[in-house]
Amino acid sequence: MRAIFIAVGSELLDLDRADTNSLYVARRLREKGILMDMKVVVGDHMDNLSWIVKRACQRAQLVILSGGLGPTEDDITREAVAAALKKRLIFKEEIVAELEKVFKRRGITMPEINARQAFVIEGAEVIANPAGTAPGMYLDDGGCKVLLLPGPPNELIPIFEAVYEKYLAPASNYHIYSRTFKLTGISESETDARCADIYRKYRNPVTTILASPGVIELHFLGRSRNSPDDARRLTDELAEKVRARLADFIFAEKDMSLPEVIVEELQKRHLTLAVAESCSGGGLGQQITNVAGSSQVFLGGVIAYANSLKTGILGVREATLKKYGAVSEATAGEMAAGVRRLCRADIGLAITGIAGPDGETADKPLGLVCMHLSGENFDKGVRQIFSGSREVVKTRSIYCALNLVREYLNQLSADGKGPTGPSNEAPVTSDK
Ligand code: AMP
Ligand code: MG
Repeated sequence: MRAIFIAVGSELLDLDRADTNSLYVARRLREKGILMDMKVVVGDHMDNLSWIVKRACQRAQLVILSGGLGPTEDDITREAVAAALKKRLIFKEEIVAELEKVFKRRGITMPEINARQAFVIEGAEVIANPAGTAPGMYLDDGGCKVLLLPGPPNELIPIFEAVYEKYLAPASNYHIYSRTFKLTGISESETDARCADIYRKYRNPVTTILASPGVIELHFLGRSRNSPDDARRLTDELAEKVRARLADFIFAEKDMSLPEVIVEELQKRHLTLAVAESCSGGGLGQQITNVAGSSQVFLGGVIAYANSLKTGILGVREATLKKYGAVSEATAGEMAAGVRRLCRADIGLAITGIAGPDGETADKPLGLVCMHLSGENFDKGVRQIFSGSREVVKTRSIYCALNLVREYLNQLSADGKGPTGPSNEAPVTSDK
């Protein structure tokens, strides 16, 4: 079944409001195997709206509109849908009576204009609005189901839910199964290059790649007319082929962030972490401490922005700074070792770089960042040149540093060290 969502409201075309109702509706429809084929945002304009409604009803079996059911002059959804479907609007006394009751409960008389909300499209069922004054409407217009919902999310949701099981779910003719891989340490284009030859062969499941700084998501969505198992089998078949190519970069297959995965893995192994941050300015510690339970594994860190703190607190040698500079693999290595020693942590993690937009030198370009992990008898550094704004470079650095931890922990497992017993040093402090 094809579904089209139409968000109505001139404010949604402005610069500061976005349509979010479609996200809720799309998610709930998908749970019943109904895919939203299209969504459209239309201003409060009678001709535009009836034009799009007419075409949507010719193209889809389900058309859902949100917004424009209020009492004011700019609320034109009722009229536009009636015009598109060539139906009359019928005035319902009983709706006026209901509205009057609502206003009476609030201790005010109903404003005249609210009577507009008592007009119902011929043949439509009125769906009560428990949270506001604009009732919803549902009608079946010769093969196309049309649902009119008010714009405020707290009003839209209960009305949508009231028709969900009754009218929408039984109309579904697909079963859907989706899977997600979350990756880090790889770019969007490299992800695509590694597996496009596999997923391009499939029209079902559909594959989508989403990129944000430091994290790539791969979504697979399979559908079947036969059974839920069939949808699952199709999705698994493709997902497993792709996984074989990208396994090293996948950090989660469920709704978990990289910091959450790291904290969980450190907890399992009873390992502690401390951070030394220069250009990330505390962002690494922030990401880790955003995770509930991080106090069990995160000891703390030093924001060593100035060289005097890199030497004075972290023990970076003057000679290292002089020879290689503050943004260098050598300095990152000494920062990581220094914070590990200082906090008596199992793992020290450091970031030093040039986030921009200035600070570039002849041999050190903007976006150059060195990250380093120092563990027991283990050291690994990475030197990267990240693109993007100051903020994006900082975010990428943080994810890259966290990825060093992920790789280190994976390697411990591969070496058979697995989750270990308690570390030698208990956390010195704990901030809950
Ligand atoms: P309306 O039903 O058109 O009177 O919309 C009333 C209010 O609901 C708007 O001012 C928005 O704040 C909110 N709203 C309308 N449409 C949407 C939408 N698609 N997503 C999220 N909020 C919306
Ligand atoms: Mg509106």
